[in-house]
Amino acid sequence: MSDSFDVIVIGAGPAGYHAAIRAAQLGLSTACIDKSLGKDGKPAPGGTCLNWGCIPSKALLDSSHKYVDAKEHFAAVGIGVKGVSVDVPRMIAHKDEVVAKLTGGVAGLFKANGVTDLPGTGKLKANRQVEYVPHEGETRTLEAKHVILAPGSVPVDIPPAPVDGDLIVDSTGALELETVPERLGVIGAGVIGLELGSVWNRLGSEVVVLEALEDFLPMADQRIARDALKILKGQGLDIRLGTRVMGAKSSNGTVEVTYQDGEGEHNLTVDKLIVAVGRRPYTEGLLAPDSGVNLDERGFLFVNDVCATDAPGVYAVGDVVRGPMLAHKGMEEGIMVAERIAGQKPLVNYDTVPSVIYTHPEIAWVGKTEQALKASGEAYNVGSFPFGVSGRALAANDTEGMVKILADAETDRILGVHILGPQASELVAQAVIAMEFDACAEDLGLIMFAHPTLSEAVHEAALGVAGHAIHMVNRKRK
Ligand code: FAD
Ligand code: AMP
Repeated sequence: MSDSFDVIVIGAGPAGYHAAIRAAQLGLSTACIDKSLGKDGKPAPGGTCLNWGCIPSKALLDSSHKYVDAKEHFAAVGIGVKGVSVDVPRMIAHKDEVVAKLTGGVAGLFKANGVTDLPGTGKLKANRQVEYVPHEGETRTLEAKHVILAPGSVPVDIPPAPVDGDLIVDSTGALELETVPERLGVIGAGVIGLELGSVWNRLGSEVVVLEALEDFLPMADQRIARDALKILKGQGLDIRLGTRVMGAKSSNGTVEVTYQDGEGEHNLTVDKLIVAVGRRPYTEGLLAPDSGVNLDERGFLFVNDVCATDAPGVYAVGDVVRGPMLAHKGMEEGIMVAERIAGQKPLVNYDTVPSVIYTHPEIAWVGKTEQALKASGEAYNVGSFPFGVSGRALAANDTEGMVKILADAETDRILGVHILGPQASELVAQAVIAMEFDACAEDLGLIMFAHPTLSEAVHEAALGVAGHAIHMVNRKRK
C-alpha cells in the first residue's frame, strides 16, 4: 500500500467521513485514520455521532416514546393494550444493532468510494507527515498533499462529579444502563441532559435535572423555552434551575449529590447520576510539537472561515473547531474542505445551521431568537401558530407546541423560525430552505402546503406575520 496520498483525514466521525468520501468522489487519493472501536472490539468508523451520540440516543428516544404512547396515549384513541412492559436489554440491543449497521455502512462506503480505511491512531507532524499507529501492526509515517483533522469532541468532566462509569456516568454510560434506575440525577439541562433524562423518565425513573443557570435553554427562543419547560416538567422531569452541583459521592450503591441554590445547600440521593455538562474539543495526542497547527484560547483548533488551520495544506472540521457542536455542521464543513482542495469554492452558511432537541415535543429552530432581535434593536414582526388548532395534530392527538416565525419589519425577510411540536426536527428543514433562498414570510404564505399536515402550521405562522392566518383570530388584521 502507498504511504503517500492526496488527502489524509484523521477522524471518521460525520465531519471526517463526509470529507473523505467527497474527496474520493472528486478523484483525490484519500485515506482516513480512525481509532474508534465498537462494542465488539472491531473498528467502528462513524465517530461519536454513530457510536455514542446522535444515532444511539435517537434509538432510545424513539423506543421510549413508543412505550409512553402505548402506556399512556393509546387508550384515548380507542386502543387498549394490556401488560405493556419494558425490556431494557432488548431496547439496548436494538440500539446496538442500528449502530453496528451504520458503522458497517461507513466502512462499506469507504470501500465503494476507494477511501483507504486505516483503523488506528493518527498524529500530525511537520509538512503534512502523519504518524499512523494501527490497531494491529507497525507504526508508519504517511504523507499527504492535504490533511483534514476531524478528531471530534469528548464529554466535559467536572471535579465535583467524577465519572466512575458505574453509578456516575457520562452520556456514553447513560446509553448503556442495564436497568431503569429508580432515582436518576442529571447534571446539566442542555440538549444531551434533556434527551437522556427524557429517555429514562419515560421508562420509569424519577428524574431530577440540576442546572446551574437560572434560564432554561438560553440559546433557544425564550417563549418556546418557557413552554417547553412547562411541558417537560408536566412529563415528570423535575428540572431545578439555578442549582449548582458542588459534589457527588458514591457509597453503598447510591450517589449522594450536594448542590447549592439561592436558598443554600441541599442533598439529593440517586441510584445513578448522569453528568451532561457539555463537550470539549478532543486534541490529545493529535499534534506533534512542530505540526504548525495552533489552538484558540478555548482549546479548539484555530481555523479561518473556510476551515484552514495555520499550517499550509492542513484543515480542521467538526466539533474540534469553533461553531455549534452538531453533526450536520461538521458534515458540511467536511464536504466544503474536500471540494476546496479539489479547486472548487464552496462556503458553509453558519447563519442557517438548524438546532434540534429531540424531546417530545421536539424543539427546533434556525436563525435569530426574539430576545436577540430585541437586544440588537432590529425591527421585526412575529407570526405564530399553535399545534392545538392544527387539524393533523388534533387527528394524531399530539397537539402541544407552536410554530413562531420572526421576519424583518421592513423587508419581511425571515430572520428566525422556532418550533416546539411534533416532528419539529423535520419541519425546521422547511425554514432552513426558505432562509437559504432568502425568502420572505409572505413567500411561505403564498406557497401551497398539503392538507392535512403538520407543515400547515409553518404556512399559517408565515401568514400570521402579516396578520392573515386563517385558522386563528389574528391580533393585527390586514
Ligand atoms: P466525532 O463524531 O467525535 O468523531 C471523531 C472521530 O475521530 C472519533 O471516532 C475519534 O475516535 C476519532 N479520533 C480522534 N482523535 C483521533 C486520532 N488522533 N487518530 C485517529 N482517530 C481519532 N449532533 C447532532 O447534530 N444531532 C444529534 O441528535 C446529536 N445527538 C447527540 C447525542 C449525544 C448523546 C452526543 C454525545 C452527541 C450528540 N450530537 C448530536 C453531537 C454529535 O455527535 C457531534 O457533533 C458529532 O459527532 C461531531 O462530529 P465530528 O466528526 O466532529 O467528531
Ligand atoms: P450543554 O453544554 O448544552 O450540553 O449544557 C450543559 C449544561 O450543564 C449547561 O447549561 C451548564 O450550565 C450546566 N452545568 C455545568 N456545570 C454544572 C454544575 N456543576 N451544576 C449544574 N449544572 C451545571
